[in-house]
Amino acid sequence: MKKLIERAAKDLVDSDHAVALTGAGFSTESGIRDFRGRSGIWTKDPEAERRAYESYPRFLKDPKGWWEETLDSPMSLLDDLSRATPNPGHLALVELEEMGILKCVLTQNIDGLHDKAGSKSLLEYHGSAFKLRCVSCNARFRLDEFDLQEMRREDRLPPYCPSCGGVIKSDIVHFGEGIPEDVAAQSLQEAWKCDLMLICGTSAVVYPFANLPRVARERQSVIIIEINAEPTPLTHEHISDYLIEGKTGEVLPEILKAVKEIKR
Ligand code: NAD
Repeated sequence: MKKLIERAAKDLVDSDHAVALTGAGFSTESGIRDFRGRSGIWTKDPEAERRAYESYPRFLKDPKGWWEETLDSPMSLLDDLSRATPNPGHLALVELEEMGILKCVLTQNIDGLHDKAGSKSLLEYHGSAFKLRCVSCNARFRLDEFDLQEMRREDRLPPYCPSCGGVIKSDIVHFGEGIPEDVAAQSLQEAWKCDLMLICGTSAVVYPFANLPRVARERQSVIIIEINAEPTPLTHEHISDYLIEGKTGEVLPEILKAVKEIKR
């Protein structure tokens, strides 16, 4: 493990354009459960996965009904996410960015923790639970820009975009919904131009995000490092050059320490 940590630190220091890709495993050490890890929400409750696939078709059919149901139920999720704090893995990525080594974080997480930690160059591929998005023009809004509960009481749901009049939904990208074009294009650009990709805490089975390492791998010179609790398809298919098997909240601070040693 120590050897791999030193190797990752050297690879990072030698890179010109390093990017980090993160998934739900990154936030388990902040107390947010992942989906497919050993204690994941769907590993334990496969029925919850089925329900998740029904959400977006429901929104398309009846945005008003979708908003009413959303406001009735999952605010407890938002409360949980609001209370969560970044872990040492999030903070290590911020420091690597501040040192000029890490150029961008691309996350699948909707928990807002990279933002809370202070990552500046951040692409939230699956959106954020703390934002709303117009489905027509992709304008993003903070949750508190709309008083959704009052709109519900006054029977004014769904909310509409103040600039284009499109319907507004949560910024979270639901199953079956396309990735917003702006984020999809910028993420693809990062995958094309990076010379090092650090893939952290993702099972790498959710597409199109899982395609980004494959896009990067088209260039043989790119170094792809995985930090994950267990091997993934990227490991098995040799998309990644090496896997550091462990917790991101422990491995990343160690890598940061080794980077500082080299830079000293
Ligand atoms: P996933 O649940 O499919 O896989 C998580 C992976 O991380 C697993 O391989 C697991 O073994 C590993 N892991 C768990 N804890 C770890 C740790 N401390 N250190 C290193 N590895 C760890 O997650 P995914 O690939 O991100 O796909 C799930 C989808 O669900 C994503 O699209 C994401 O948007 C969404 N999701 C987000 C959150 C969040 O925002 N925190 C939580 C659950 C699901």
